[in-house]
Amino acid sequence: TSSGGPEESLGAPGNLWPSEPITLEPGESGQQVVLRKIRELSETGHQDPFMVADLDVLANRYQVFRQTLPGICPFYAVKCNSSPWILRVLATLGSGFDCASQGELEQVLGLGVAPSRIIFANPCKATSHIQYAARCGVQLLTFDSEEELTKVAQHHPGARLVLRIQTQDSKSIFSLSAKFGARLEACGRLLTSAKELGLAVVGAAFHVGSNCQTPQSFRQAIADCRRVFEMGRGAGYAMSLLDIGGGFPGAEGSEPMFEEMVREIHAALAQDFPEGTGVEVIAEPGRFFGEPVCTAAVNIIAKKTVLVPGGHRKLIYYFNEGHYGNFRIFLREPVFRTPIVIKEFPSEPPLFPCTLYGPTCDAFDRLFSEEVQLPELDVGDWLIFPSMGAYTCSMSSTFNGFQPATVYYAMSPQLRSLLETGP
Ligand code: PLP
Repeated sequence: TSSGGPEESLGAPGNLWPSEPITLEPGESGQQVVLRKIRELSETGHQDPFMVADLDVLANRYQVFRQTLPGICPFYAVKCNSSPWILRVLATLGSGFDCASQGELEQVLGLGVAPSRIIFANPCKATSHIQYAARCGVQLLTFDSEEELTKVAQHHPGARLVLRIQTQDSKSIFSLSAKFGARLEACGRLLTSAKELGLAVVGAAFHVGSNCQTPQSFRQAIADCRRVFEMGRGAGYAMSLLDIGGGFPGAEGSEPMFEEMVREIHAALAQDFPEGTGVEVIAEPGRFFGEPVCTAAVNIIAKKTVLVPGGHRKLIYYFNEGHYGNFRIFLREPVFRTPIVIKEFPSEPPLFPCTLYGPTCDAFDRLFSEEVQLPELDVGDWLIFPSMGAYTCSMSSTFNGFQPATVYYAMSPQLRSLLETGP
C-alpha cells in the first residue's frame, strides 16, 4: 500500500526511495534509520533534506496517553501533522480526530473514520465548511460567539455544540486565547442565545495553549468548565461533554511535564467532574502524539566565515531546509533545538557562534532566531534534529522553488500487521 501523500512523491531521487514504509529491524529506532539513509544518500551523491517518521513512536505515545488518562478519549489534532500514515495509524488504534477545516474533515472521513469520531474544533468556521460538516454527519462543533451560533442555526441546525472558553495561557509557548474562546462572563448569554435559536449545546471546551508550560492551567480551565456546565444546565441543557483540548508537550525529554499535567487533570476532574456524573471527557492532543515521531536531516549547502570586532570568528551556515520548509514554527520558540552533528572530530571541537539560515532568498529564512554554538562544519555536512513531527511538514511551503523534504515512514512488522488486520 502507498500513502499517496505528497511528502513521498516530492524530491525522492528516482526509485531509490520506495513510498512503502521501511520495516524497522528489531530494536531499530527512527534515528538509526536516519543515519542509514544519510550513508545511502552520501554514497549516491544525494544531499536533499529528509525526515524519517517512526510510526511505532506514534503508537507508543497513543498507548501512553490512554494508559495515563484512561477515561479520556483522544481526538488527535490533525493540524499538527496530517500525514496520511500518521492519521491511518491513529485511526486504526481507535483515536478520534479534531479537524479545523473542510480539507481536514475530508482527509479523515476519507480514511473511513466515522463522523461520530470527529470534532470540528475550530470556533470560527467558513459557512461552506459548516455545510460540508452537516452533509457528512459531523455533528460535534465548537463555537465561541453569537455570530457563529447564527451560522450554525442556519446551516447545521442538528449540530451538537461545544462552547469553547478562554484560558490563562500567556505562559504557553503558543498562546491561543487572544484569538479563540469566550470569556466566562459571556457564557451565560451565549447559552441563552443558543437555546433561543433551538440549538443543542452539549458541553464545554478549552485549550491551555500549545506547548503549555503551566500544568496548573488545566485545573483552572476545568474549574471554569464546571461553571459553564452549571450555566448550561440552568439554561436547560443536559451538559455531557468536556473537551480538555491539547497543549501537552511532546518533545523527547518533556515527559516529566506531561506527567505533572496528568496529575493536575486527575485532581481537577476528581473535584469538578467526579466519576459517575455521566460526563464524557475528550482531549485534542496534537504535539504529544506527533512531535517525537519525526527526525529531520538537513545538509549544509553554503557557508561563510565572518570576523567580528576582537578578532573572533562567527560562522554562517546555509541549510537546504529552513523557515519555509520544516522549521517554520521554530522562529516562535524561545528554546533552541540542539541538533546532532554527523561528523567525526579527532577531539572535542571548539564551538563558534553560528547563524543558521534556510535556502531561500528571504533574509527572514532562519532556522532559529538566536545564534547557536556549533563546531566548525563544511558544505556537505549533515545535521539531524530529533522531535520534528509537530507543526513542521504540515506548515511547510514550496517558496522559491524548494520542494518539501521527503518523509520516509518506518514501522515495525507488528505495527504493519496491526494496520493490515486491525486491532
Ligand atoms: N485543538 C485545537 C483547537 C488547537 O487549536 C490545537 C493547536 O493549535 C490543538 C488542539 C493541538 O494542540 P497541541 O498540539 O498543543 O496539543
